[in-house]
Amino acid sequence: MDLGRGRGHHRGRAPAGRRGGRGETGRAPVRVISTAPELAAEWDAGRLSGSVIGYVPTMGALHEGHLSLVDLAREQCDLVICSIFVNPLQFGPDEDFDSYPRTVERDLKLLEARGTTVVFLPDWDEIFPGRARTLQDFGTHVSVPRLSHQLCGRTRPGHFDGMVTESLLFLNLVRPDRTYWGEKDFQQLRIIETLVQDLRLPVRVVRGVTRREPDGLAMSSRNKGLLFDARAVAPHIHRVLLQSRARLLDGDPLPTVLAAARDCLTERGFEVEYLVACEEESLTEVRTLDFHAPIRLFAAAHLEGVRLIDNMRVTEVAP
Ligand code: AMP
Repeated sequence: MDLGRGRGHHRGRAPAGRRGGRGETGRAPVRVISTAPELAAEWDAGRLSGSVIGYVPTMGALHEGHLSLVDLAREQCDLVICSIFVNPLQFGPDEDFDSYPRTVERDLKLLEARGTTVVFLPDWDEIFPGRARTLQDFGTHVSVPRLSHQLCGRTRPGHFDGMVTESLLFLNLVRPDRTYWGEKDFQQLRIIETLVQDLRLPVRVVRGVTRREPDGLAMSSRNKGLLFDARAVAPHIHRVLLQSRARLLDGDPLPTVLAAARDCLTERGFEVEYLVACEEESLTEVRTLDFHAPIRLFAAAHLEGVRLIDNMRVTEVAP
């Protein structure tokens, strides 16, 4: 078994197979597998016993946001499969693929404690033979262009194509009945929902609400990169969204509210990438609130080198 060959992928990974004994938690040990045939065998056994299969894809460095999706899957499914794979295709050449946090041993303990049945922990080669690093290296692409070029897509060209190509590949390998995605990455969630709908994939996409730290900061694996001072300032992104929503519901004009929110973040040291209101369904930016469709505020901002994103629903559909 390869223990962290090459460019940092799955450094410190655990060997595949059953984790020993009954575990510290008293739950059945999680089964850790790393190949597609092992996954197919799990699927066959699950189907044979009539299990509903739930799937939670992750890039590891797990926190309560991920684990809340596992909880949801456990409530609704008999067999819960979680994958841990840092997808190279969704990182641009100057992004943090190599330095993305990898905490596999800790992740496995957390997943076992939350009752995950199977963890799929493949090697880079298992998913992308020859270790494709980019979409061009891999060759086959899927894309949801209507939702991929706005918001995060503007500054991360190719990110969503890399994400959705890898996600479809994993959905084909895992073949779940239900798959669980967080609203924290709302654009990603909408892209997956659209992929499933347009290509009639036989899986149901289930949304999980954004989990937050007690001070409101949306949980994220990248929060680990926030140094002490930046960590204290970071929750302002959530506060500003809350204040903006309150002002909008009071009837203040959208452009005024967004400009004030942007200024507030800039004054606190954020470099704002976007702060906009969009229709939830189409992710089309809106300039006024007409309450005909659900609207969401979306923000992305950099704080001392860490890119933070957050979003919040503003309106309900008018009766
Ligand atoms: P990632 O490991 O960042 O690729 O995230 C894996 C899944 O966890 C995605 O569906 C994310 O949207 C979801 N997720 C990440 N952070 C949170 C959070 N704070 N609350 C709920 N879900 C989250």
